[in-house]
Amino acid sequence: MYNVKSMKAEEFISHHEIIETLKYAEENKNNIELAKSILKKAEQCKGLSHREASVLLACEDKDIINEIYTLANKIKKELYGNRIVMFAPLYLSNYCVNGCVYCPYHAKNKQIPRKKLTQQEVEREVIALQDMGHKRLAIEAGEDPVNNPIEYILECVKTIYSVKHKNGAIRRVNVNIAATTVENYRKLKEAEIGTYILFQETYHKESYEKLHPTGPKHDYAYHTEAMDRAMEGGIDDVGLGVLFGLEMYKYEFAGLLMHAEHLEAVHGVGPHTISVPRIKRASDIDPDVFDNGIDDDIFAKIIACIRIAVPYTGMIISTRESKECREKVLPLGISQISGGSRTSVGGYYEPEAEDDNSEQFDVSDKRTLDEVVRWLMQLGYIPSFCTACYRLGRTGDRFMQLCKAGQIQNCCHPNALITLKEFLEDYASPATKEIGDKLIDVELKNVPNEKVRKIAEQNLSDIKSGLRDFRF
Ligand code: SF4
Ligand code: SF4
Repeated sequence: MYNVKSMKAEEFISHHEIIETLKYAEENKNNIELAKSILKKAEQCKGLSHREASVLLACEDKDIINEIYTLANKIKKELYGNRIVMFAPLYLSNYCVNGCVYCPYHAKNKQIPRKKLTQQEVEREVIALQDMGHKRLAIEAGEDPVNNPIEYILECVKTIYSVKHKNGAIRRVNVNIAATTVENYRKLKEAEIGTYILFQETYHKESYEKLHPTGPKHDYAYHTEAMDRAMEGGIDDVGLGVLFGLEMYKYEFAGLLMHAEHLEAVHGVGPHTISVPRIKRASDIDPDVFDNGIDDDIFAKIIACIRIAVPYTGMIISTRESKECREKVLPLGISQISGGSRTSVGGYYEPEAEDDNSEQFDVSDKRTLDEVVRWLMQLGYIPSFCTACYRLGRTGDRFMQLCKAGQIQNCCHPNALITLKEFLEDYASPATKEIGDKLIDVELKNVPNEKVRKIAEQNLSDIKSGLRDFRF
């Protein structure tokens, strides 16, 4: 029985409701009138239900698809402007007791060396990341109660925040670790983490159990209910995601939105972010084995439909995707991207050799952060290293209030310029700096509130004189 407010995974992600939704979407995929009325509703930026959004995703009419893209782009511009927040993943440990069949870190893979960073190595990695210009990290670790207990994760978070190299500082640590207890989520909250990220991988219970044959992650309910426990533990920014390619994308899409609706219904705040990874090649993993792969066009359509359905949820794309693909989906709703990423343990201090096979997935976009920043600016985006909300306690519903009050342009926009200026002064190549300084001059004029604009102007000049860390 479907119940959005139930605390049981099988009720808030009801298989029956998803099947009914897919049936309804299929029946209405050529219902142009319905699609148009859904798009009209979406224009108000109040989101769509999983059923409505599923109709748009199923629609094959070229004109409607173009309208979906146009609206996604419009919503993106209205709510996120031309800013793209930058982050990098930091792999702490690839020890893992789980048997996820799509991940090279699965317990039975003997082909990769197992590694866990010592605190000294964490420090080395963080210095390397700071020297690139990163301010926001997402830490990643396999599930292993012996090698990576919660105490280890907490110690790493503490170390990361403590490293101050030259003008560098990591100002927000997001955490991507296995589903855990309320008590452990409380500890993570106390350690001042940013977002807690946990990918569902697939919402299809039967497939989930087959894809996770062994280890604690096998438990579908425990995994799916993790975000409720995280919120109970005081973490109000949570990040959802599915691994596209494991199951039918239409099923995952409906499940993902039902999960978002559940969080909103129960906790009064939806997911802070949604990630859209696609399965990739890695050691012991052949993506062709999974027959639900999606091409770039479907991928773009999914991203546009998510943007329309949950306008206030940030959307993340990683270096799993190529430069070309990232370029294609940026205007459709992506608000955060990684740059200069290494997906192996210790890979920033000691970049992996060409024949190394210890990455969690093949990185398609291998450019440096400086190159990614320059590329974004050339495309007309403002790369942002902003972490202000989290540091000012604007998380969960307080963050949503900021968005809904339409204050993003007076807040995110100047913050993006200020943090970009820090990057340009401290880490950028001369070519990147030149483009960036010009962009800041132009974009400063787009801060609507005069008082805010004046303060931002002053901040920018202070940064030039050597001061750091301003925020709205
Ligand atoms: S996806 Fe995560 S839990 Fe699964 S094997 Fe990989 S590291 Fe372990
Ligand atoms: S001000 Fe808040 S919402 Fe805006 S970019 Fe910074 S952290 Fe994100």
